[in-house]
Amino acid sequence: MQPWHGIVAVNYFPVFFDLAKQKVLVVGAGEVALRKVTLLERSGASITVVGAQIHPELKARAAAGTIKLHVREFVPADLDGPRLVIVATSRRAINRWIAKLCDSRAIPVNVVDDREASRFIVPAIIDRDPVLVAVSTGGASPVLARRLRERLEALIPAKIGDFALWLQALRRPLKSRLRDTDARRRFFEQLIDGPAAARFVAGDMQGARRAAHQLLAATTIAASARGEVTLVGAGPGDPELLTLKALRALQDADLILHDRLVPEAVLDLARRDAARICVGKAAGGASCTQAEINDLLIEHALQGKRVVRLKGGDPFIFGRGGEELEALARAGINFSVVPGITAAAGCAAYAGIPLTHRDYAHSVSFVTAHSGDGREPDWRALATPGATAVFYMGLARVQQIADKLMQHGASPCLPAGIIAQGTLQNQRVITATLATMGDVCSRANLESPALLIVGEVVSLHASLAWFNKEPLREAAKSA
Ligand code: SAH
Repeated sequence: MQPWHGIVAVNYFPVFFDLAKQKVLVVGAGEVALRKVTLLERSGASITVVGAQIHPELKARAAAGTIKLHVREFVPADLDGPRLVIVATSRRAINRWIAKLCDSRAIPVNVVDDREASRFIVPAIIDRDPVLVAVSTGGASPVLARRLRERLEALIPAKIGDFALWLQALRRPLKSRLRDTDARRRFFEQLIDGPAAARFVAGDMQGARRAAHQLLAATTIAASARGEVTLVGAGPGDPELLTLKALRALQDADLILHDRLVPEAVLDLARRDAARICVGKAAGGASCTQAEINDLLIEHALQGKRVVRLKGGDPFIFGRGGEELEALARAGINFSVVPGITAAAGCAAYAGIPLTHRDYAHSVSFVTAHSGDGREPDWRALATPGATAVFYMGLARVQQIADKLMQHGASPCLPAGIIAQGTLQNQRVITATLATMGDVCSRANLESPALLIVGEVVSLHASLAWFNKEPLREAAKSA
């Protein structure tokens, strides 16, 4: 059981409130109340503060007319009218009583430093007016929220607010120049990713305008151009093994056609509005035929969409990526390929099994145990000493593969390993020898996807396993 088992954070619903001219009540008039008032003023709310002891700065603001101030204790009638209440007295019991009153009147309330009594929380923010980034950990760790905010502060340029206003000003004139909404979105994506943004942020307004005009000229010409397909390798499962190019393609996509092997955590990284179609292939389950997939790719690209064809691992390793590209080439559709970490590389790394090693193996072969056309691999070559063989799609055939290798000269003592759900949190690794692997595997109840590795290098797993493992003991470290 994990140490955090049973702990539940609140799943807040994120909103940005438009409080302009809305009545907001702040109960308490000390230092904390002052901080909240300062934050609220930014939103143009009509602020009333009630409190017995008043911070001098709040007095000054009341005198200047920016807030209303009542110098007295809170009374329930104060709740007639406000849209939002923030409670910041130093007395917890009073705070909670006021929060209850708010609850009974369905007025959203925040009690400073009392998450349980609060109906909403005030997040850590990065304020680059009008750009506002809010960070919440659901109350789990305010310190983590602050740290995240600091990191984001460093990432987000100071001029981002002005940049947002510039983009807003461009929207109306652009609407008449580029009528198609997809074309407009692309224009803005390229503007934000390209030299215009870089110039703007560097303070070179003229350069930014020039770059925007050049981009607009290019976009107007290309607006009627065809779509394109990017064939993207999603890696073996751990979303952090995606390449930066894969991430970019996912965030720019109009449509994603993905295999079933691609985990949800990877798909979550795609642009939210991108349509998704699962075309694929669970063992035995219904799926699109290859011809249907090819047709879908062509059909959507011809509609001008940016299509991402997302495949587990690498698209050119047992992924039929080549066939899809041939179909696209025949249809005259532009394409590009983003390689991914293939299952053999990912699983071997996460299982601590170097696929080659100066002392054990000088070559490695990637073999499909399921070619579908009845053709046999070169068993003699695979059984050669000093060669590592990795079998994809082999879980149901472990015994046959071991038998074939032994028939072709491999030693029954040769180490073999199976990695199931490689690189994912529930990765399992079992090791045995060629002679025993069939039995060990059927007892282990492994589930697909799984990879079989055969060769001396598998013996290194015993000392090099690191993923999902307890830390090394002190004795082992100093040995
Ligand atoms: N193009 C993919 C392979 C597709 S074939 C790639 O480059 O990895 C599907 C096979 O890949 C599965 O049957 C299994 O043998 C292997 N595989 C894919 N992901 C895996 C994972 N996370 N763990 C173990 N094996 C995996």
